[in-house]
Amino acid sequence: MSGILRYFIKPFACVLLICLALSIYGCANDTASQQRVQSLKEYGIVIDAGHGGQDPGAVSAVNSAVESELNLAIAKELESVLTEKGIVCTLTRNDNNALADTKEGDMNKRRDIIQSSQAPVMVSIHMNSFPDDPNVWGPQVFYSDSKSSKELADILQSLLNAATGGKRKSAYLDLFILDNNPMPSVLIECGFLSNEAEAQKLTDSEYQALIAQTIADGIFDYCGYLNP
Ligand SMILES: [Zn+2]
Repeated sequence: MSGILRYFIKPFACVLLICLALSIYGCANDTASQQRVQSLKEYGIVIDAGHGGQDPGAVSAVNSAVESELNLAIAKELESVLTEKGIVCTLTRNDNNALADTKEGDMNKRRDIIQSSQAPVMVSIHMNSFPDDPNVWGPQVFYSDSKSSKELADILQSLLNAATGGKRKSAYLDLFILDNNPMPSVLIECGFLSNEAEAQKLTDSEYQALIAQTIADGIFDYCGYLNP
């Protein structure tokens, strides 16, 4: 091969290889996204409203709001947003009762519901509280020990920050409800009941609807569901 030909062919071959690699990567991503959309339509999502029954979770010193009730309100709002788009939801609890007489029994039943589901996503809804510093506020998303859970958490965190003006970052947390689940799993602390302004907002049904809609948007984003 003449020197001049080699000069042109080598870079051409490199560009061709890069294009091929990118298109294979693109196809793999498309396939993953198609699978997520398919299982979202087929199996819906699992929503866990934290606490309930004898365990109220955090109680706000600002306005006496009870975490377990707010968790259920947002979980149900999220269910209604998703149901409107044809996505079936499984809630670990539908009312303010616990799933068992003991906390351990309650948590085990929640985990059974989550782990027997084939849903592509699980979200657990909670409210935060940090009475030592009432200035702390903002939604925060915690993820289980998997790359896809982190990916889902990052999307949700960024959308929740944009919707609320919050600045918190998603973080890994070793939690029973997130561990060993077959699907990406996150726990969303929707805000701080110890912060005066946020405690008031979290009891407002319009703000609850904003949080629920933002979570639904994040799930659609993560699944690659472009026209829900
Ligand atoms: Zn909680």
